[in-house]
Amino acid sequence: MSAVELMDEMEAGELSIEFEGEEPQALLEWAIKEFGDRLAISTSFQADSVALIDMAYELDPTIKVFSVDTGRLPQETFDLADALRARYPGLQLELIQPDAQEIEGMTRAHGVDLFKTSVDMRLLCCNLRKVRPLTKHLHQLDAWVTGLRRDQWASRTNIRKVELDHDHGAVIKLNPLAEWTEDEVWDYIREREVPYHSLYDKGYKSIGCAPCTRATAPDEPSRAGRWWWETNAPKECGIHCSIESGGLEHELHALIGDAANPEAHA
Ligand code: SF4
Repeated sequence: MSAVELMDEMEAGELSIEFEGEEPQALLEWAIKEFGDRLAISTSFQADSVALIDMAYELDPTIKVFSVDTGRLPQETFDLADALRARYPGLQLELIQPDAQEIEGMTRAHGVDLFKTSVDMRLLCCNLRKVRPLTKHLHQLDAWVTGLRRDQWASRTNIRKVELDHDHGAVIKLNPLAEWTEDEVWDYIREREVPYHSLYDKGYKSIGCAPCTRATAPDEPSRAGRWWWETNAPKECGIHCSIESGGLEHELHALIGDAANPEAHA
């Protein structure tokens, strides 16, 4: 059964209102009962998602967790994955990979560090290394859980707790931490002694691929350290919102032809 048949836009909106004001665990508990093994938590190993893993594991130790190993992640991210496996025995944590041929074609055509040359090249890299493998993986699921919060960035202020994700085949997208602040997340992590990414202790506030993330000054917004060399470009990679760009579409088609539309190949 597809997510479209499981829920329509109106039901998603009603559920979202129902869970507004509730603790994140309430939505997680409902989702685990509703979707079973067709539910998974997406983690980028940032503070929000380790808090979610802790909450969900307590409710159901068989909960599925996945992340995209872009091939450019810092070693500290893999160290955290190991720490989570040690803390939560039997944790079903899967690292999914981009298509090796697509990455080879991209780097042969544009270089390994193409993302520094233009916004379109950065979006192309994010698309092939993150968005496409994630989109493919989501086709196996009815619902996915993210660590998105409304206070993270301007593009996230209107997220709802329950959404239909039309960028990924209308799979159900759950954002249990939507109402939480950054401080609430860290209070939870400290109180529960949840393992967290060691780069936070080196001044990072948002963590992604090694070459595209830097530490930030205390007064900078949390996502200012992502693709910091770009001006007037979205601090998003396309996973949580579709990013239209003629240059990106053109390059994708030049590299991978019709396969540029993963929905057509689900
Ligand atoms: S964050 Fe940087 S290295 Fe990672 S996928 Fe995006 S452009 Fe490529």
